[in-house]
Amino acid sequence: MDKNDKIYIAGHRGMVGSAIHRRLKKEGFENFVFRTSDQLDLRSQQAVADFFEKEKPGYVFLAAAKVGGILANNTYRAEFLYDNLMIQSNVIENSYRQGVKKLLFLGSSCIYPKLAPQPMKEDYLLTGQLEYTNEPYAIAKIAGIKMCDAYRSQYGCNFISVMPTNLYGPNDNYDLNTSHVLPALLRKFHEAKIEKKPEVIVWGSGNPRREFLHADDMADACVFLMKNYNEEGLINIGVGEDLSIQELAEMIKDIVGYKGKIVFDASKPDGTPRKLMDVSKLSALGWKAAISLKDGISEVYRNKFLVSA
Ligand code: GDP
Repeated sequence: MDKNDKIYIAGHRGMVGSAIHRRLKKEGFENFVFRTSDQLDLRSQQAVADFFEKEKPGYVFLAAAKVGGILANNTYRAEFLYDNLMIQSNVIENSYRQGVKKLLFLGSSCIYPKLAPQPMKEDYLLTGQLEYTNEPYAIAKIAGIKMCDAYRSQYGCNFISVMPTNLYGPNDNYDLNTSHVLPALLRKFHEAKIEKKPEVIVWGSGNPRREFLHADDMADACVFLMKNYNEEGLINIGVGEDLSIQELAEMIKDIVGYKGKIVFDASKPDGTPRKLMDVSKLSALGWKAAISLKDGISEVYRNKFLVSA
């Protein structure tokens, strides 16, 4: 990637897209092209074709997707499948047609089988049944990985696929109906503290284990891989360590300074029991995460709930 290359970040206002933008600007990149979803509906074949023909970007970070937590994934099953298939198909096909030098496609750890051995290696893809609650999203993302590989095989395109673990950071979604667990718990504990509520409800049993990576680390890994990785298949991005939802809730309770009780609501789904990434492929290339979970959550909490309050 050269400073003169035109870079298109699809999803530049999202958590990952905005972090990639900050990361590239810091390094001196200035030649960006952006469209908000109001300006360009990435689900529209014609609109995306016209955009790529006009702008002809050199590099594409495909960070646009319909995303959400366990409840949103499970509720809007048709939208998670349709929107994501359309967005990625349009961007990948037009990147090929307009001669994009390299494209980075973003997936997720939920592409792996529900009961995959832990930690999960890249080659466990398609070796078992998916978790029901996020199957539509996972199917779309698996199709994206296979598209990148097919375009590499048939047309020689340098399209790579990266699979991040659960992410958190600036520009996250705090809507309790659609968010992931980490922002949801930050909000719940913060509001319970302010409103002096005796307890905070945490969904499920508290037993599922999850791994969390800060969006700034994620962006750093994406830029690193855009520069240094040119292979088919997929590569995991994570920290290689996880904790239970109960441990996460206790950590967040502590950071927020909430004194009440944690109550688990077993009527809500647990989802996948565990999805710890095997990050040996990425480590072997020389990349590792820099932000500890405690520091990362403390920073996000301060900026979201304390600085602006
Ligand atoms: P997942 O990683 O795809 O399962 O997505 P989530 O981040 O939404 O959920 C992770 C785990 O946290 C699941 O076991 C949820 O049931 C649990 N969880 C506990 N409390 C909450 C909450 O308030 N919101 C969400 N989204 N998940 C929660």
